Amino acid sequence: MKTAIVTVGDELLTGDIENTNATWLCSTLDDRGVNVERVTTVPDRVADIARVVNEYHAEYDAVIVTGGLGPTHDDVTMEGVAAAFGRAVEPHEEVLAWLEAEGGYAAADLAAGTADLPTDARALHNLEGVAPGAVVESCYVLPGVPAEMKAMFATVAEAFEGERTYVERVETGEPESALLDRLAAVQEQFAVSVGSYPGETVTLKLTAADPEAAKRAAAWLREHVETIEE
Ligand code: ATP
Ligand code: MG
Repeated sequence: MKTAIVTVGDELLTGDIENTNATWLCSTLDDRGVNVERVTTVPDRVADIARVVNEYHAEYDAVIVTGGLGPTHDDVTMEGVAAAFGRAVEPHEEVLAWLEAEGGYAAADLAAGTADLPTDARALHNLEGVAPGAVVESCYVLPGVPAEMKAMFATVAEAFEGERTYVERVETGEPESALLDRLAAVQEQFAVSVGSYPGETVTLKLTAADPEAAKRAAAWLREHVETIEE
């Protein structure tokens, strides 16, 4: 399963807010065996949201959009997603009923636009806040507030399933350039892919469909590189 993530918000593009939602979604999807092929951040602007959602919807099995929900003037994500699918936004009756029953908000007390979703969208209720999310075809629209986004993702997580992989890590003090022969050799011998992440030390990440292959490859590497205590 191949997916794309779109995070919406001017505050992400100015660096005022760190894009932890993107990182959390990437790692959660990776744990579920789902490939994330794009992460794109766009400003709070209808046309930009619509363009990228439209393109990614055509390209990937699913698209996750976060941020810019709710009724304030800069929250235009629902409009952008609706435009991507050639739909309008309109008040969603089930959301209004849910907010009244579960949230204790009378429809008249809600800020205008709070319950607006793209026409014919499936509503996702917000267990941690007010602004609802939505599912339009294979596009999942979630809130920007991290706790709200995570709680809502949990309600749709089952839609995101891929082949699980197993990971082993080996840490070495050898420089990356010195490791090339061993990295090539381990990939030749075992059905693993190898990532190499330099920092103060180099972390080698072995990923495999078969847990035994990951373990055997890690054991081989530990014998053939200068390892650091893990
Ligand atoms: P609400 O349901 O409260 O209206 P929202 O969906 O409108 O939320 P935003 O207005 O985009 O969300 O952002 C609200 C807050 O959520 C931001 O101030 C920021 O703290 C946080 N936030 C938004 N996007 C991200 C992100 N990608 N990573 C981390 N935090 C984020
Ligand atoms: Mg908001």
